[in-house]
Amino acid sequence: MATLDSALDRILAHYGRDPSALLQILRDAQEAFDWISPQIRDALAGALDIPATRIGSLTQFYAHLYDEPRGKYRVLFSDNITDRMADAPALMARMLDHFGLAPGETSADGLVSIAKTSCTGMCDQGPALLVNNRAVTRLTPERIDTLCALIRAKTPLDHWPPGFFLVEDNIRRADMLLGSPHKPGEAIRAALARGRDGLFAEMRKSNLRGRGGAGFTTAVKWEACRDAPGEARYVVCNADEGEPGTFKDRVLLQSYAGRVFEGMALAGYVTGAQKGFLYLRGEYSYLRAPLEAKLAEMRRDNLLGAAIGGDASFTFDIDLHMGAGAYICGEETALIESLEGKAGKPRIRPPFPATHGYLDQPTVVNNVETLCKATEIAIQGGAFYAGQGTQQSTGTKILSVSGDCARPGLYEYPFGVSIAQVLEDCGASDAFAVQIGGAAGFCLAPHEFDRRIAFEDVPTAGAFMVFGEGRDMFDAALNFAQFFEHESCGFCTPCRVGTAIVARIMNKIDAGHGARYELNELTRLHDLLRTSSHCGLGQTATLALHDMMQKFAPAFERRLTLKDFEPGFDLDAALAEARALTGRDDASAHIGADS
Ligand code: SF4
Repeated sequence: MATLDSALDRILAHYGRDPSALLQILRDAQEAFDWISPQIRDALAGALDIPATRIGSLTQFYAHLYDEPRGKYRVLFSDNITDRMADAPALMARMLDHFGLAPGETSADGLVSIAKTSCTGMCDQGPALLVNNRAVTRLTPERIDTLCALIRAKTPLDHWPPGFFLVEDNIRRADMLLGSPHKPGEAIRAALARGRDGLFAEMRKSNLRGRGGAGFTTAVKWEACRDAPGEARYVVCNADEGEPGTFKDRVLLQSYAGRVFEGMALAGYVTGAQKGFLYLRGEYSYLRAPLEAKLAEMRRDNLLGAAIGGDASFTFDIDLHMGAGAYICGEETALIESLEGKAGKPRIRPPFPATHGYLDQPTVVNNVETLCKATEIAIQGGAFYAGQGTQQSTGTKILSVSGDCARPGLYEYPFGVSIAQVLEDCGASDAFAVQIGGAAGFCLAPHEFDRRIAFEDVPTAGAFMVFGEGRDMFDAALNFAQFFEHESCGFCTPCRVGTAIVARIMNKIDAGHGARYELNELTRLHDLLRTSSHCGLGQTATLALHDMMQKFAPAFERRLTLKDFEPGFDLDAALAEARALTGRDDASAHIGADS
């Protein structure tokens, strides 16, 4: 117990015993002890003077926190549709067979647990898995066999072949952002030369719009935060890139972190914020150490901290905050709740974070790519920036291309590029469908491939998943339905219940028991979710499904039974035990098809 107490004490001291750092404290405690045991929960509750149930609700909410023992090696297979297309289920079955486990089980000796998780952001080099938060990419049967042997031999991860953990950037087309080498401090120096008002004027001129998908004008957001009353202001970089099929932030944080942090500093300069947070998704934990090192380097070079660049009025610093496996934390108010150490449940808006955000203070929340764009504007000026792309969608956009194509990876284009052009560039000669914007986006059929990536036509946060000829779009819809059932935060009934019913119906159709009635129900649920859900997750959960049902109807219809209706519950089978107890098994004791 002394070890437990002293380790927890160290963790608590690191976070200043601040209950708003609860999620970080729990992550670190789990790192040290593998899971959040009742003793850990009670000790932390006592030390932080919070109810133990608050800790319990967090361990229930975040997929990467465990309140039951897990294996020393915790393996999570990425379960995006592109992983499934690359045979991830067979690879997982191979590993489960090796250890004699069922999905989600832990081996009796406590050595290993194997389960699935949502997309891990490695779609360009999948199938992938996480082992103790580290990504292993390009899985093959041989690689799985080697992994099993390493685990059996209890080999520490640091002694595994380094190639297993190689995460490549796969930049296939570079433009304004990916193509310009970052010169440390260049954007900050340019901003200081322009002055606060000057930089803000350039931001306005650029008409930069947020790259997270919604496309809100960045200068308007910064202005609202700057002008709102408050005791302190904050800048938050949303690096909780959880949308299935998206991985551009991974590359920006791996190879362009200096730009990201300078972009945050610029937001601080304009708004007057002195504190920033980078909220990093748990799946990218392997980036934590290099990002911390980058922050230390920038502090050393006077690009963060007090009197940045010699300007006594410019103080700004950044903390990393790790997520813990909750897709909903990509929603900005849920992210702020999570930053405050709570379950990531979306707030009611208005008020918006720009005026009432972190700790109820004015807060700018920007996407990783958006902040990188701000550095371009500081250096090149707003007019230059606005000269790229289209009138309503200025600048360039980075696409994360994956699926059935010869060259998956990142493609940066000026806004306005056609879907057909992207398909040609990535080597997708037999594309049958393209899912834009991830599971929450929409699905385009070949007759729409002349449409253009732009806020005024096909808006996207960046995911571009290609489905080649011969793919079954029902499988994609099923994967998305299961994803949203798992990721609904449960706060509002239409989404909590609606996503579960949608998944149940899709599972029923998949099992060969669906009738036309089910398809009608899916359409009805789409309308309900879209119009009644509290936040964007529920409102967009069935967009792709609806698109696929409209545009790829045969994929759904060929799975239907000929009946008008087939119940999802087998009452006759459920009564088997009662029949056995009463000793009756004659025909009239059965509920037959004609009863
Ligand atoms: Fe949570 Fe879904 Fe409601 Fe959003 S729509 S608040 S994710 S339950």
